[in-house]
Amino acid sequence: MSVKTLDEYINQSSIESKNYTKPKNFLFKVSIYHDVWMDNALENFYRILKKIDNEDFNVSLSSDKITFEFDNFEGFKNALIQQIKHKYKNMIVMGEDKKTGITKEIKKDFILLQEGKKEGGTVKLKEEVFDWNKLPKILDEIKENKKGDKICIMCGGRYKKSYTLKQAIYPFVTKNKSLSGIRTIKSLPEYHKNLCLMCYLLGVLEWTDEGLIYHTSQKENKTFLFLPIFENLIELNKFKEETLRAGILKVSERYKNLLKNPNSDDIEETFGEYTTLLAFYEKFILNVKESEVLCNNWGVLHIPLGKVKNVKFETINVDKGILEVISELIEDGYLIYNDMIKRIYFKKKTNKGFVTDWDITAEIKENLAKSLLIDDFRTFSRQLMPRKGGFVILSSDAYEILDELIYLWRLVNMGIPKEKLDTIKSVGNIIAKISLGNSSLLYKLDKVRTIDEFWSVLREISRKMAGMEKDELREIKPTAIDELVVMVKEHEKIWREIRDLLVIYSSMYLAIKKLKKGGD
Ligand SMILES: [Zn+2]
Repeated sequence: MSVKTLDEYINQSSIESKNYTKPKNFLFKVSIYHDVWMDNALENFYRILKKIDNEDFNVSLSSDKITFEFDNFEGFKNALIQQIKHKYKNMIVMGEDKKTGITKEIKKDFILLQEGKKEGGTVKLKEEVFDWNKLPKILDEIKENKKGDKICIMCGGRYKKSYTLKQAIYPFVTKNKSLSGIRTIKSLPEYHKNLCLMCYLLGVLEWTDEGLIYHTSQKENKTFLFLPIFENLIELNKFKEETLRAGILKVSERYKNLLKNPNSDDIEETFGEYTTLLAFYEKFILNVKESEVLCNNWGVLHIPLGKVKNVKFETINVDKGILEVISELIEDGYLIYNDMIKRIYFKKKTNKGFVTDWDITAEIKENLAKSLLIDDFRTFSRQLMPRKGGFVILSSDAYEILDELIYLWRLVNMGIPKEKLDTIKSVGNIIAKISLGNSSLLYKLDKVRTIDEFWSVLREISRKMAGMEKDELREIKPTAIDELVVMVKEHEKIWREIRDLLVIYSSMYLAIKKLKKGGD
């Protein structure tokens, strides 16, 4: 091992830094767009460029732009074409032809790229980027790009040749020319023909992004495509890289891509937009041990499966406190999606006994996931109420998780110690007993709008309890109602939360009693 003198060291590092800073023939900078589709497209493009390992080629990412440079244009072009060909496969799945039974390629249904006639079972996309004869010519324009005097509507840069903005590039564009969803374009619809090559290329390539979650609902006849929103490209990239490394998204699946277990083959069963997001969070937190960035802002595209592709857009903001609750539950071994939401059933009595109504069950699961993620405890509590001649049952392990969730989500904030949950549960049990023959008390409780009405319902419970038979009172803690009164007095400001907690546990015990009794 040779030891360098300080002079040698300084000389050498100055040569290195000279080498490094020597300007390349071609230098490109693409800045953050502050647009959910284009920023994901930019990040996707960065991951494409990172795979190019020509010595001549450098790419770097900062919080607000990507920069790439090279001397040899042909070398760059060929390497990029290879990477685009590779990414192209993310849009294609293999499936069986219904008529012939022969395996053929199928384009994922939600991808808004026009398809030409299939040739020998191979998908042919009309977009020129994916025509391997035309792609080199498109990329040749990169060389000319800077010489123009037109201004791009997306990035504001100057360029020479125009592309037309359309859904295949930017899904917010609607067929009837009224552009929806995005601020910059909305105010400048007449310029929508003025799009530069770089924005065109990035926008189209975003369909090849394997780092996005998608879920297709056959019932709603649409696909939900989840785009993470960050105002910082480094964070966006970290989050998507962590997601990909976790192995929880399957590339080669037509309708849904969230996996039950990392790098497995089984797709997770979710029911709609919010169960998918909740299940994703659970898997992400479980499998990305040292996550630096967890996305809590999402832009969700609702892409119809039918012929008319009017895309709807929704943003979801998940409070960081909710993500902490989900994380804490997971740390304690409670999987709120897998072991609770998935194990909730809506039972209806038929002449064959109790039967699960799967439509209502799916609706309840979706509503529970949604109200949790948007931090709406009121709506959450009402999901467990009896309705339409049926009631909601949880599997036995799921009840324990429900208690933990309620403790972390509500009681901690309410300043109520965990033991006090027993008081609420006991009163819930009393209400369930009273409601077994007639649920009107439970509905009345749910409907109370003022604290005076609440007191009046509590008095009614107390009166009815006094009239109960001895053996009915056996499992009941007679002091519970008094303890609850003290609790409400101590926490008068949050009486609504106490009401919601009572609704949950009354509904839960009522359902258990109905199931035991075997009928309504
Ligand atoms: Zn542009």
